[in-house]
Amino acid sequence: MIRTGDEYRESIRDGRKVWVDGEQVDDVTRHPMFKPIVDVRARIHDLAHEEASQARMTYRSAGTGELNAVANKLPRTQQDWHDKRAAVDLVQRAAGGVVTRVGDETIGEMWSLYDGQDVLNEVDPRFSENIRRHIETAVTADPFHVSANTDPKGDRSKAPKDQDPDMLLHVVRETDNGIVVRGAKYETAAAYANQAFTKPTIANWGNDALSDYAVGFVLDMGSPGLKFVCRNGFAGRAPASDYPLANRVDEVESLVIFDDVEIPWEDVLFYQHTRAAAFIRATLHRYSAFPFVQRTLHLADLMIGAALWNVKQTGLEKQPAVQEKLAQLACYRETVNAHLTAAIAMAEPSPGGLLMPNQSLLYTGRVVALSQLPAMMHTARELCGGQICITPDAATFQHPEIAPWLEKYYTVNENWVADDRRRLLAFARDLLNSDYAGHRLTFQLFAQSPPFAQLGAVYRNFDFSGPLDLVKAAAELSDKVDASL
Ligand SMILES: Cc1cc2nc3c(=O)[nH]c(=O)nc-3n(C[C@H](O)[C@H](O)[C@H](O)COP(=O)(O)OP(=O)(O)OC[C@H]3O[C@@H](n4cnc5c(N)ncnc54)[C@H](O)[C@@H]3O)c2cc1C
Repeated sequence: MIRTGDEYRESIRDGRKVWVDGEQVDDVTRHPMFKPIVDVRARIHDLAHEEASQARMTYRSAGTGELNAVANKLPRTQQDWHDKRAAVDLVQRAAGGVVTRVGDETIGEMWSLYDGQDVLNEVDPRFSENIRRHIETAVTADPFHVSANTDPKGDRSKAPKDQDPDMLLHVVRETDNGIVVRGAKYETAAAYANQAFTKPTIANWGNDALSDYAVGFVLDMGSPGLKFVCRNGFAGRAPASDYPLANRVDEVESLVIFDDVEIPWEDVLFYQHTRAAAFIRATLHRYSAFPFVQRTLHLADLMIGAALWNVKQTGLEKQPAVQEKLAQLACYRETVNAHLTAAIAMAEPSPGGLLMPNQSLLYTGRVVALSQLPAMMHTARELCGGQICITPDAATFQHPEIAPWLEKYYTVNENWVADDRRRLLAFARDLLNSDYAGHRLTFQLFAQSPPFAQLGAVYRNFDFSGPLDLVKAAAELSDKVDASL
């Protein structure tokens, strides 16, 4: 089943308690800081219905004959990955910027759950039916699904029991209907999503086998007791003509406060078992790292486009030094592309029988894409020149007394007129220099776990046995030397 954009909008008008800018929000679908990104999410639903894009966005289920979203399909073949990649490309182009947390990038956590069913059932079989049903719902019900991992955590040197216990989300009691949880999580898009796979963060949540902190569930965002306290949005702060990306694709984060929220038993996926929680954490990004890295590729394309249009406008693109800088951006772009392409070409079967992107190539690609991004933004910034941060706003370009002067100084030649130059500089500023640009960079850094955790994933997935064998042979080491020691 696929939903329409309006059905999605209606589904989030559920009386949720949302705050931003010091005030409570009546309806996120209409509030100026949320409306643009809600509209992008709604547009993704509508693209699945429109004739021109339906084939790219949907597939027909062999079992039910219904149309489902390509983004939510359990990946079993390389073609599934090519299809997902193509759908994401279409969404990014339609959004007119980079949108990450719009569902396809977080739904992969449910496929990790699919792989983990046997392990979780072995640890605690009580919730196997819930796991199966929620995985099925994620594929067929077209939910807007997000990810909840990160708690405020408080004093990291202390165990939860030695400080305010709510610094990490935990179970406070059981009822006939379910469990009651207390705590908070940072979540992008939570205030306008339908549900979140909620599970423990990377933290000291205890070594006891039966910790109350080791809990995982699917959270209905309309649950009573939830408060969505949002950071101030970028949309609406300044005109869209000056900050086009901030006004179009800002993805608002929330501190989601769980003030004694009851989670029905049927939504609980694991409970009290640290082994289950540790297992889920270790495999979480097995699939979802792919669409996350794909966003960085899109960002690279936007940087190359902005930089190249700028040097074309100013007649600098024939300079060898300028071409070298553009080549550096192209190398970065193609390195990210190569990791994504190879991760599909060398995809590997998952423990649950799905097809995972090649894990080593994917996780190394994520580290390369994110660790080099600041330097690449700086290169693009350099190519755009200082005018991206000193150009007057669109209103000044229209002021009767000033307009002729700006017309004179911003018209480069008969093809590059002042208004196009102003538009390009405004776009490049919002991509590389603005508050929104800085936020996007921090998002790329952290939103899919911090760099040390990303390197940890590389360490766990790279096959070190090859280099060990190579050096053992080349250095003519004896057979006493054993990699397992
Ligand atoms: C824009 C944005 C969007 C986000 N969206 C989401 C979301 O949708 N869902 C979600 O769950 N989370 C989200 N997050 C949270 C994100 O996952 C966390 O910021 C990240 O996991 C780091 O946690 P922290 O901020 O509490 O940093 P801290 O835990 O305070 O760590 C800060 C730094 O300390 C160092 N450090 C900490 N612990 C260790 C360690 N064990 N070993 C080595 N170094 C260490 C690292 O340098 C680390 O970066 C988002 C964050 C941002 C910035």
